[in-house]
Amino acid sequence: MSPTKILNYINGELIAPASNSYLNNYNPATGKVYSLIPDSDERDVQVAVDAATAAFPAWSNMPVAKRSDILLKISALIEKNLDKLALAESIDNGKPVSLAKAVDIPRAAANFHFYATGAIHLATEAHAMENTAINYTLRQPIGIAGCISPWNLPLYLFTWKIAPALASGNCVIAKPTEVTPMTSYLLSELCIEAGLPKGVLNIVHGLGTKAGAAIVSHPKIPAISFTGGTKTGEWIAKTAAPMFKKLSLELGGKNPNLVFADCNFDETVKTSVTAAFSNQGEICLCGSRIFIEKHLYEKFKEAFLKRVSTLKVGNPLNEDSRMGAIVSKPHMEKVLSYIELAKQEGGKILCGGNRMKPSGENAEGYFIEPTVIEGLSYNCRTNMEEIFGPVVTLTPFETEEEVLQYANATQYGLAATIFTENLNRAHRIAAQLHSGIIWINCWLLRDLRTPFGGIKNSGVGREGGFEALKFFTEEKNVCIKF
Ligand code: NAD
Repeated sequence: MSPTKILNYINGELIAPASNSYLNNYNPATGKVYSLIPDSDERDVQVAVDAATAAFPAWSNMPVAKRSDILLKISALIEKNLDKLALAESIDNGKPVSLAKAVDIPRAAANFHFYATGAIHLATEAHAMENTAINYTLRQPIGIAGCISPWNLPLYLFTWKIAPALASGNCVIAKPTEVTPMTSYLLSELCIEAGLPKGVLNIVHGLGTKAGAAIVSHPKIPAISFTGGTKTGEWIAKTAAPMFKKLSLELGGKNPNLVFADCNFDETVKTSVTAAFSNQGEICLCGSRIFIEKHLYEKFKEAFLKRVSTLKVGNPLNEDSRMGAIVSKPHMEKVLSYIELAKQEGGKILCGGNRMKPSGENAEGYFIEPTVIEGLSYNCRTNMEEIFGPVVTLTPFETEEEVLQYANATQYGLAATIFTENLNRAHRIAAQLHSGIIWINCWLLRDLRTPFGGIKNSGVGREGGFEALKFFTEEKNVCIKF
């Protein structure tokens, strides 16, 4: 069977890239090429910008309720195509199909639903000056927004950007990652079916350094919303700064998980395993550095390892697989190289540590055993650098001061989790952790209204709720003298 050819979605049509050349798209669970990705460049981005420019006046002037109706149709179509999209996501990314069905695709539908309705409720402020004047603030769409997303939660994060940008009246040039482009291609078909006017959303596929860089550098795209690695974010910030673009950067993480002896033990073990290995540990929010209060350490270790041993790793299309394949060969090699580094740094591998070769059609797939390591210092490279795979470290601590020092030691500041039944301690520690998101006695419990994002090298700005609608609009103050 010849591989499926993905097409760009520009000016309402599915078209080939200007170069007419394509990149290979691999199924990570088999190691085989199964689809082809447009190798787009600045010519495709230019056609998309022209289409978006032409579409902008009508889209931004459309009553918000009507825009909302169209976005709600897209949301409904995502829900209707849940099984098809979940299967595509699982094949493209390697994640268990059960996870794609339960999390990725429902969340993509929710993103459109949330912002389609949220935009209707966006209020602006008024400031009265006693007996003199009144100021009111207009919020106007920026024009064309560039949205660039990563491979770990492909449709989930792609729609998390596109939905607020469109809902607030912008036209969009979006580039999904070249590693997992399939569901964004399927989304373009759904946008056509939903009647999204042509040119409002343009999806340009291809390499980050080519198609992505063309979006970031284009002078007619004044806002860039990016989720991906910290190094890429640095390049984007440097390139966009001289053009004074608005930037939202959601970057890497190396999240601490603090386990105090007074925690609810069973729940803590269960949630810590989920936080460590969901999506093969390829979630920017995964808790990969687990700090455990010393006198609970051995008990926790034993229960944690026992639970990890029950995680079924294998063909992501099997409904009972809990962990699937790592997204790509280079990423698998990167994760394995960190396991080697951990050994060199004196770490003891408590379980896992190897590539797995399941039998049959998955023998060449990119599988890694869930890996737990102990005996490392809190500030060694294994504990400082983002691995972004199924690898966690266990480290004991004695005091609150000590664990705060450990937790806050990295360049990152995305998320942190605290397990304790002591309410005062929970608040005290939460306030002192250098992270944009704190979960107490839970993990990845998301309310879409809350501000989402990191501090330090984990990013700039916040997504979620009205934060995103504000990012994609410009404020204009109007002052009227009495
Ligand atoms: P990446 O930075 O390699 O790529 C992300 C996107 O940027 C892709 O679409 C890629 O094609 C594009 N890109 C690459 N170079 C570019 C350039 N020069 N100009 C414009 N675009 C470019 O990241 P990745 O490997 O796809 O994703 C993994 C990273 O994403 C991890 O670091 C992870 O922590 C991070 N992430 C962060 C969040 C968050 O919310 N903070 C969420 C998910 C993933």
